[in-house]
Amino acid sequence: MGGGKSNTYEVIILGGGPAGLTAGLYASRARLNTLLIENALFGGQMTTTETIDNYPGFPEGVTGEELSRLMEEQAKRFGMETVSGEVVEVKLEGDHKVVRTDESTYHCEALIVCTGAEYRKLEVPGEKKFAGKGVSYCATCDGAFFTDSRIVVVGGGDSALTEALFLTKFVKELTIIHRRDALRATKIYQEKAMANPKIKFLWNSVVKEIKGDDVVRAVVVKNVKTGETTEFETEGAFLFVGLLPRTESVRGLVQMDEAGYIIANDNCETSVKGIFAAGDCRKKLLRQIATAVGDGATAAFAAEKYLEERE
Ligand code: NAP
Repeated sequence: MGGGKSNTYEVIILGGGPAGLTAGLYASRARLNTLLIENALFGGQMTTTETIDNYPGFPEGVTGEELSRLMEEQAKRFGMETVSGEVVEVKLEGDHKVVRTDESTYHCEALIVCTGAEYRKLEVPGEKKFAGKGVSYCATCDGAFFTDSRIVVVGGGDSALTEALFLTKFVKELTIIHRRDALRATKIYQEKAMANPKIKFLWNSVVKEIKGDDVVRAVVVKNVKTGETTEFETEGAFLFVGLLPRTESVRGLVQMDEAGYIIANDNCETSVKGIFAAGDCRKKLLRQIATAVGDGATAAFAAEKYLEERE
């Protein structure tokens, strides 16, 4: 097999979140010639998480930034190469996989897709207009701008609650607007949010519009039970209404579900031989760092077996 200089690798990993970094660690320790392609920061969604309390080995919790740094350092220690680039196309040439980025073209025998997911947009009027002017998808990035403010957080899942809890460090008051009267989030986050005096809840409510002048001033909220629409004054709107898989680069190539998550079996094998999927981009029950790491290890091991069987 050729080395990095010819842009040909035994294994290419797309995405440098926990799944990709773990796949890289396992593949390089198996002495496979491995390249990881990442388009932003190593660590993926972890990098914008303030404190991670549910990844084993850190009894006091760990910051997302620190865990990302540690995983990156460990993966690189065993020889994995990395390159930064946006993947624009993946195609097959016989058994070979060809990965084209905005800068270069790479070839490999086994491809591990770990491209993760991104926050879904609410798709209401004003959302685009006020992005960065009061509308945010990242509490760690923007929280400090809302010191002593009154803000809203939209959503009822783990993201909404963990980010809301973090935001209480800065804001005067925070209202979680949720479309039902029961939260989806893990119980421990629910308990913490309910006990936090800065957090209020607006149940059975959906945001129909985000309004303002130069910055956000209000959200238009509809009560889904009564149909009543009101204007709720706010200085910021943090939106956490779920995830969208980042799987465009392999759309049409591997089998996906209707939401765009890649369908892979227990060994992380997709519908195409030699293409594996790991982490949040894969159809699965639980999207956590712990499960992404497990996927990454499995995918790299399955890729190693695939390469051995072809020899
Ligand atoms: P999620 O679990 O899919 O929750 C999305 C929330 O947004 C739900 O409460 C949903 O309401 C609501 N929603 C969806 N579409 C909406 C719309 N159009 N208008 C209003 N509300 C809408 O997404 P997530 O919270 O981003 O979490 C994604 C994954 O990451 C999960 O597996 C989660 O466990 C994981 N995660 C874990 C942690 C952690 O463990 N620390 C932190 C963050 C994320 P319904 O409840 O009515 O469906």
